[in-house]
Amino acid sequence: MSAPESPAYTELIGHLQKTSLLASCAHLLGWDEQTYLPTQGAELRADQMALLSGMVHERTTSPRIGELLSQLENDSQFNNESPASANVREIRRTYERATRLSQKLVEELSRVTTLSQQAWIEARQKRDFATFQPWLEKIVALKREEATAVGYGDGLPYDALLDDYEPGMTATKVQEAFSPLRDELVQLVQRIAGSTHKPDRSIITSSYPVAAQRSFGRQAAEAIGFDFSAGRLDEAAHPFCSGIGPGDCRLTTRYDENYFPQALFGTLHEAGHGLYEQGLNRNAFGTAMGTAASLGIHESQSRMWENFVGRSRAFWQHFIIPAQRTFAPVLDDVSLDDFYAAINIVEPSFIRVEADEVTYNLHVMLRFELEQPLISGDLQVADVPAVWNETFEKYLGLTPPDDAVGCLQDVHWSAGLIGYFPTYALGNMYAAQFFNAAQQELGDLSEMFARGEFAPLKDWLRTNIHERGHQFQADRLLEVVTGEKLSHQPLTDHLKRKFGALYGLD
Ligand code: ZN
Repeated sequence: MSAPESPAYTELIGHLQKTSLLASCAHLLGWDEQTYLPTQGAELRADQMALLSGMVHERTTSPRIGELLSQLENDSQFNNESPASANVREIRRTYERATRLSQKLVEELSRVTTLSQQAWIEARQKRDFATFQPWLEKIVALKREEATAVGYGDGLPYDALLDDYEPGMTATKVQEAFSPLRDELVQLVQRIAGSTHKPDRSIITSSYPVAAQRSFGRQAAEAIGFDFSAGRLDEAAHPFCSGIGPGDCRLTTRYDENYFPQALFGTLHEAGHGLYEQGLNRNAFGTAMGTAASLGIHESQSRMWENFVGRSRAFWQHFIIPAQRTFAPVLDDVSLDDFYAAINIVEPSFIRVEADEVTYNLHVMLRFELEQPLISGDLQVADVPAVWNETFEKYLGLTPPDDAVGCLQDVHWSAGLIGYFPTYALGNMYAAQFFNAAQQELGDLSEMFARGEFAPLKDWLRTNIHERGHQFQADRLLEVVTGEKLSHQPLTDHLKRKFGALYGLD
């Protein structure tokens, strides 16, 4: 793509690229902090990170950006759907957000979330919501302040928070997609619970030596197209993917010798994120065109490779023999169908990050249904545990025995990440919609997976999603790629079809 002839544009992009370079140094230090940093280096690392984030913030809010944007926004070549316009649009969005938040609010948020994460760890250990309550009250108050400062037009305060993770999305649109999905899933979970099919869980809880899991996971990530000459796979307590920049994408996973799915599906999930990062246009690094469209779109990529590919029967038609070889003799007498059923067990449980493909979305929707009234003021923080448990019982038929496995289980709220959760379920919906579109264009993907061919899907995602970066907001990208608006239907159909067959439902 040729850049428009405009000195202001050139200056703006140059400024932004340097800022991104600086931010990428912080990302690399952040990755190191989660993987290899010696304990005694923590204090130095905190100082390094604070210095870098201060420098990034200063560059992001420089008044010069405002001047350049004002010049460009009057120029018609930056007012359409072109790549250059997308860059300008996103610089404006980030700039507005950053400059509307006062230094005082930013500092207060950073101070309170650092302390409240400590309070959260203790509260969770003691299974005692009361000690965390005052912290959550502070965070909710600060996030409301943030929403007011950012602004939300005719929408809801929650929209301003959501926009930070899923630009352009609103609480109302999320609600419209979630409501029918929730009704369908609650029913599906109940029908599965009543099924006589009981997959054999012991298949996935036998002994899977970590060294063997490590090599198998790497083999699987390589097979789906993750490029190890432009990335790494390491271990971390909380798995993540960090796209440092072109040619450098870091994945992490964790191993449990007696629980096979954790490391492998974690690796495929993070490799899905990694493929997105590796597929971004490297010449556009640091600009919207070289950046993911949203967290939801990012999650659509990870979930697609984890669930639509990795947990499919076709994937294991190809991988069952390598797995039997790698983990011999554990899987010697296990059939493909029994293995496929075991890695797809559906069972209501308390912890979101351990939930299966069907119940997972209910965990996410529950959080959205609490967050929104918390921010609007319709729900008091003191009432969170009771409402959590009540809603959990309604959706999953279980009541958490204590808050550690209930409303205290996630780090998000203590870190000030309110508005983040919906992106997980949006990702699942986007994934189903993209997968259908890919299938329509490429033909039967199962047949390809069974032959170990994953490149056609990867290349399709690359062209249609990765290389487009953030040219479009998520809902527009969805429309451009699939011709459809956001809908729960493809995900619902996929889950009913897959689990209906697995559990013998008609
Ligand atoms: Zn993810």
